[in-house]
Amino acid sequence: MAKSDKTPLPTKHDKTIHMCCDRVLSGAEKVRAMHAAIQENSANAPPKLAPRARLFGASSMEAPAKMALQTGKKWADGKTLGVYFMDGSATQKSRVTAQAMKWTTVANIKFDFSATRANAHIRISFVADAGSWSYIGTDCLGVAKSKPTMNFGWLRDNTDETEYERVVVHEFGHALGAIHEHQNSKGGIQWNLPAVYAYFGGPPNNWTKEQVDNNVIGKYSVDQLNASKYDPDSIMLYQFDGALIKGGKPTKFNTKLSRGDKRFIRKQYP
Ligand SMILES: [Zn+2]
Repeated sequence: MAKSDKTPLPTKHDKTIHMCCDRVLSGAEKVRAMHAAIQENSANAPPKLAPRARLFGASSMEAPAKMALQTGKKWADGKTLGVYFMDGSATQKSRVTAQAMKWTTVANIKFDFSATRANAHIRISFVADAGSWSYIGTDCLGVAKSKPTMNFGWLRDNTDETEYERVVVHEFGHALGAIHEHQNSKGGIQWNLPAVYAYFGGPPNNWTKEQVDNNVIGKYSVDQLNASKYDPDSIMLYQFDGALIKGGKPTKFNTKLSRGDKRFIRKQYP
């Protein structure tokens, strides 16, 4: 064992890994999103509870929460998603639009950037906070119209094009229902847990153990995923330093849609 858990991480870390933090709906939003998801696409309906399960202790309090976990988040096939910019410069808007459109060339889905706040499915801000994030798929329908469903906290007029592509394509992947590749339960990353907690617990993330579990370590169950196998080239995978991973091999720095991403989204929206 060459490295102990106390080995300081490379200083490179201080300026890299702009992590996208999962957006979690509140209780009321979750219930609203769940109903909207089933209305949007009947394939999102959770599997029927077995009669026996309904007889035993299925209280009305826990039923919606359980259902939300099992409810899909996919838009209808061929959907045109309305997009509305809540703020941002003309340059920011046009650069985001150009990158987002890359998904429409591979999936049966369209974006309408002339949507109004009232009829948009995706509402974009550049100033909601310092992070970049998006709600997952039809979870956007659970968010109040006054609030953004997507944010680009560090993209400016003069940010380089590679960073626009990396971040915008990634967040729009979430908006189409894709989750983080490092949380793909079909294979993937063996974490060096003490290093992961130490790293994300410190600045700039300052995450609690629970936030680290949700955003980094936790895996999605296979039935939540419709997943293809773990794709190390995915735009939905973040670059993690080797110090955070057993064996010490870092994940790649992916800035473009991979072949796996294209295959996956074509399968989702044929
Ligand atoms: Zn993300």
